[in-house]
Amino acid sequence: MSTGYLYEPLPDVSGGARLHLNENSAGCSAAVLSAIRSVTREQIAWYPAYSSATAACARAFGVSPDSVLLTNGLDEGILTVSLALVPRNGEPSDVVVVEPGYGMYGPSARLAGATVRSGEPGPDLSFDLDRVIAAITPATRFVILSNPNNPAGAVIPHESLLALARALPDGAFLFVDEAYADFAGNCAIPAIATVPNLIVGRTFAKAYGLAGIRIGAVFARPDVIARLRGAIAPFSVNVFASVALEAALNDRGYLEWYLHQVRQAKDVLYEGFTRLGLAFWRSDGNFVLVRVGDAPGVRQALSARGIHVRDRSSAPGCEGCIRVTAGLPDDARACITALEEVLCAAPR
Ligand SMILES: *Cc1c(COP(=O)(O)O)cnc(C)c1O
Repeated sequence: MSTGYLYEPLPDVSGGARLHLNENSAGCSAAVLSAIRSVTREQIAWYPAYSSATAACARAFGVSPDSVLLTNGLDEGILTVSLALVPRNGEPSDVVVVEPGYGMYGPSARLAGATVRSGEPGPDLSFDLDRVIAAITPATRFVILSNPNNPAGAVIPHESLLALARALPDGAFLFVDEAYADFAGNCAIPAIATVPNLIVGRTFAKAYGLAGIRIGAVFARPDVIARLRGAIAPFSVNVFASVALEAALNDRGYLEWYLHQVRQAKDVLYEGFTRLGLAFWRSDGNFVLVRVGDAPGVRQALSARGIHVRDRSSAPGCEGCIRVTAGLPDDARACITALEEVLCAAPR
C-alpha cells in the first residue's frame, strides 16, 4: 500500500551485509572523515558557500563551474530537473522514463505535473533505442535513463545517447543518470559542450561512499544550469557535504582501490551464480541481477542469514530476480554461501 512518500523508503536493516542499496560497503575514504573533523564552529554557523566544492567538481570532470550544480544527493537533482523542465502553465507535458527505471524518476516527473510514458526495454533488458524513441511525443519535456542501467547494469553506447538526444523535439532534454558510471568508466559529461539538450547526473553516494552525506551533481550547459537554479533551494548542500566532496575527489587512490574490490566481488558472484546454475546479467555497475525464482522468499531467507539483497522481481523484465550489490569480495562470498543454503533447502 502506498504511504504517500515521493519514493517508498525501504525498511531499515541492522547488522549483516548491506547488499541491497548499492552502497560502498567499505565506507568512505578516511580523508573525508578528517575533512569533516576539521570543519570549524564558525563554518557551521555560516550559510554554506560551496564555490570551492563546485570548482573542485568542475575540475574533476573537465567542465567550467557554471556547468555544474551541486545537489543534496542526485535524488534532489532528479527532482530539480523535473520541476525546472516541466512547465506549469497547463500545457500538456510528458516525461519518458526508460524502464526499468530508478524509483525517483516517475514520481518526480508526476509531482512536477507531467504524465509519465515508459520506454520499454528490449528482450533480456537490453536498451532498445527504437522503442524509447517511439515513446517520445511533441509534449515530451525530457527523457530520463540511467547509464549504466540499473538493475541489469549494461552500458548504453554513446552513439545511442546522441541519437536519442537528436530525436527529441525542440526544447526537450535527455537526462543521463550516471550514478554507476564510476564503476563502468563511461562519461557523457564532455558531450554537454556539443549537445545542447544533454543533462548528466552524478552521485557521490555509490563509488565514493558518501550516501549518508547526501551529495550529487548535475552537469549541463550554463544556460540550462541557470534554469535548474530556479527550482532548487539556495543552500541544499550543507558544509559537511561540500568539504566531504572535495576530500573524496582528491583521494583518487581510495576510489581506485574500491573499484578494484568491486570488480573482484563481481567475479565471485558470477562464479557462484554459474555454479548454482542461475541466470544472471554481467554488469558494468556495482551490482548483479540474478534470477532466483521465488525472489521475495529468497530475499527474506537471505536476510534471516544476515545478507540483505534487493527483490527486483516487480520491475519490468525482472521476474524472479534479486539484485546483489558487489562491494567487498568477502561479502560476495558470504552471499554465495548463504544463497546456496537457501536454494538447496527450498524445493524449486
Ligand atoms: C542511488 C541512485 C541515485 C540517487 O543518488 P543519491 O545521490 O543517493 O540521491 C540516483 N540514480 C540512480 C540510478 C541511483 O542508483
